[in-house]
Amino acid sequence: MRGHMPITIGDTAVEEFLEFCRKGGYRKFLLVADSNTFRVLGERVLKAIQSQNWDVIQVVLEGENLHSDDFALMQVFKADDQEERLYVAVGSGTITDITRFTSHRTHNLFVSFPTAASVDAYTSVNAPVTIGGLKGSIYCHAPIAIFTHLPTICAAPKFLNASGFGDLVSKFTSASDWKITHLIWGVDFDEEIYQRALWAARRACEVVDIIHKGTPESMRAMMEGQFASGFCMADFGNSTPASGGEHHIAHIWEMLWHWHERKGLYHGQAVGVSVVITAGWYDKLRVLSREEAKQRLERVNIPTAEKQKALIHEHLARIEKEIIEHNPIYIQLSDKQVFMNTKEKILSQWEQIQTIAAQVPPAVQCRKWLKTAGSPTIPSELGISEEEARLAIDYGHYLRERFSIAILRKLFGF
Ligand SMILES: [Zn+2]
Repeated sequence: MRGHMPITIGDTAVEEFLEFCRKGGYRKFLLVADSNTFRVLGERVLKAIQSQNWDVIQVVLEGENLHSDDFALMQVFKADDQEERLYVAVGSGTITDITRFTSHRTHNLFVSFPTAASVDAYTSVNAPVTIGGLKGSIYCHAPIAIFTHLPTICAAPKFLNASGFGDLVSKFTSASDWKITHLIWGVDFDEEIYQRALWAARRACEVVDIIHKGTPESMRAMMEGQFASGFCMADFGNSTPASGGEHHIAHIWEMLWHWHERKGLYHGQAVGVSVVITAGWYDKLRVLSREEAKQRLERVNIPTAEKQKALIHEHLARIEKEIIEHNPIYIQLSDKQVFMNTKEKILSQWEQIQTIAAQVPPAVQCRKWLKTAGSPTIPSELGISEEEARLAIDYGHYLRERFSIAILRKLFGF
């Protein structure tokens, strides 16, 4: 692995944090938590800091409906006294993102105390924040160390940890989409990172039977998987290894939720459901012979660029401009020459494509794992209507530059 920040996973995270501060000469802190994470771990970290007679400011945000938005960020900025302080994030995705952003903008470093195995973003440098109602991923920085108090993770709400499983199992399809994009569309690729992304997914599957029990063994594996997945993104420089066609389907649902101010859709749950869908397309790819693939590619009728743009306008008018600006692959394929070249690439790389597809577990297996972990497996369990499911399935591939299984599915008519 490349140079990564030190990570602790165990019972003595708080003690190790104190030792880290003694060695590093950190004496002033700003602790950020929400009312829930403060109760389960933040208070303990605060008392440990105070027991050393160190200087600490605490910011405990209201836990319900907390977002990394201007309101939350301002509360942290207001508490900052412009002294040099080590920021301490005690929480999962949202708290870590709020701390990542505010510490970066106040020129302070930060450390993270994760409180659930729900996300792979702990090691990330980017923070998704909503300012003025507009959500964007903003470049900040990664924590300088991560202290995982395992008993806290084990005691986290079961659905949160199960949702983390959905995000981890997605590395099977996301990493495969990435490698296929590399073969057909020529994007950068790194075999070692690809293998690590697959490892993260396998690590979670090894313990899938005991995730719902929240045992230390299962939560350690989940956290190792989440950190490994986060490092894949950090080392590659963007989210490509850990976010493929399945994430693009989930992103559409997440956007719909955001636009309509609906609540209760968890990232990992949405991604897990999408994995079942995209793994199903990989199932179909695996049984396709090269000859059959050739015939299907000869029959395919890709709508013209104008037709596709009209459909995007009809169904996703709110993000139409951003989509078109990215010049999506499927629109580019409406050009006859581009399609001819792509068709040749697909057929000449057929064996390698099949080798990649063989890494993806069958959809029925993914569904079984998710069920065992305690996570939803079909859109309706997430409160997603048939129409919303269809929209994401048919338009997800427009969101990012990825030659994902969602595009192959269109070309082969799955
Ligand atoms: Zn994800």
